[in-house]
Amino acid sequence: MQEITHYINGAMTKGTSGRFSEVFNPATGEVQAQVPLATVEEVNAAVEKAAEAQVAWGATNPQRRARVMMKFGALINEHMDELAELVSREHGKTLPDARGDVQRGLEVVEVCMGAPHMLKGEFTDNGGPGIDLYSMRQPLGVVAGITPFNFPAMIPLWKMAPALASGNAMILKPSERCPSTAMRLAELLKEAGLPDGVLQVVHGDKEAVDAILDNETVQAVGFVGSTPIAQYIYGRAASNGKRAQCFGGAKNHMIIMPDADLDKAADALVGAGYGAAGERCMAISVAVPVGEETADALIEKLTPRVEKLKVGPYTAGEDVDYGPVITAAAKERIERLIASGVSEGADLLIDGRGFELQGYENGYFVGPSLFDRVTPDMEIYKEEIFGPVLSTVRAGSYEEALKITMDNPYGNGTAIYTADGDTARDFAHRVNVGMVGINFPIPVPLSYHTFGGWKKSAFGDLNQYGPDAFRFYTKTKTVTARWFSGIKDGGEFNFKAMD
Ligand code: NAD
Repeated sequence: MQEITHYINGAMTKGTSGRFSEVFNPATGEVQAQVPLATVEEVNAAVEKAAEAQVAWGATNPQRRARVMMKFGALINEHMDELAELVSREHGKTLPDARGDVQRGLEVVEVCMGAPHMLKGEFTDNGGPGIDLYSMRQPLGVVAGITPFNFPAMIPLWKMAPALASGNAMILKPSERCPSTAMRLAELLKEAGLPDGVLQVVHGDKEAVDAILDNETVQAVGFVGSTPIAQYIYGRAASNGKRAQCFGGAKNHMIIMPDADLDKAADALVGAGYGAAGERCMAISVAVPVGEETADALIEKLTPRVEKLKVGPYTAGEDVDYGPVITAAAKERIERLIASGVSEGADLLIDGRGFELQGYENGYFVGPSLFDRVTPDMEIYKEEIFGPVLSTVRAGSYEEALKITMDNPYGNGTAIYTADGDTARDFAHRVNVGMVGINFPIPVPLSYHTFGGWKKSAFGDLNQYGPDAFRFYTKTKTVTARWFSGIKDGGEFNFKAMD
């Protein structure tokens, strides 16, 4: 049995708590490793060392820190296949999807290679008589990142790259369900030149998270995970005087207008609804066709596509569309929610329950499920299912479809499929959701923009990565400077005896 360690002061460090969490192979249901769960003392010790290491790192000029990012980016590229395999082994997603996971994190590292530019301050010349004002961005000190299971490479990279490039030290607490990728990234960062102690990877559960939230040295917390935990962490971090940005769950709607290219819309829905077994915060889980005719035609196109999906372990190669869900509990919950949809009166057109794969009978596979005639009062609509289940909510008009989307408490991503620019523009302008796709199903912004949902999908006021991340991970100091006249106006230039 592999025993995963923490990563403290640049070295693999065994946990001392005696408490462990099991890391499963979701395709087989076997336990493949044990991850230690840190105590309050272990977290506090990691923070203390990080604070010591941060002093020199924060004083290192931004260009040198950026060079570490350059080397880190090169190493990620070099180790792309190895990292993707680590992701797939613990998460279960297919290898091409795992490569995407690494790639979208790498792109944030690439933006951080431009840290000197991102960290530049502002200057006002002659704001008053002989007075100049300038502001500078300084690192916060020690910051923390707490990340979910579903993007084991991308989200830790979203947290660590801008935090470190800004001159902070970071305590990263990855998901205890997929802990290994973050460990390998930490090793690569050391190889890239990051001084020991500047990145500490501490594994754990609520005890470790609470220790981070209550530690006075930790200045900021970046969290990604489910909404109830996001809200909890935001509240506790903020009441302890920390900066916090906490990104939560989602229920992403795609509106399909009568003029949409339905083949393209159906292809997009299948990829965005079932890819990664629906375990993406930007997955489309609700299709909202406008008009009965559009809905009927869409369902006709969706059904054969969904039936054809191939579910299997990542080791089966590129033939597989998606893999298992993360745990036995997740599988059970998804199947229970499907049953609730049936009992509440939705039409279950394709039933993914009871899916079994020969040779992988103990794996956490869920077949694709497709619902029609779901209504907003049903549990399957209200809950984030986080599984391979697509619900269709029929709308009578564009305004009704927009209202359904806007009334949903989540606001992470949304999309519209239409051939009409005016409708698309109106939608993008009015919808109360943070990331919008126009004929584009998963509108995760590129790394030089920023990522963040609205409503119950995010707590805090700045987005992840891009310019917002540099604002989050630095504090602004503004100097108002006046120099009284000196040598220029009245100075004495002649050599005189001192008498
Ligand atoms: P989760 O909330 O269970 O766990 C996230 C992190 O919080 C983990 O590190 C976990 O150890 C920790 N945690 C769990 N319970 C805790 C508790 N009681 N107290 C303190 N810490 C706790 O989320 P998950 O299941 O790992 O990830 C899936 C969720 O993340 C989904 O809801 C998904 O939508 C969301 N997500 C959101 C985004 C986004 O950017 N908005 C991105 C990816 C995933």
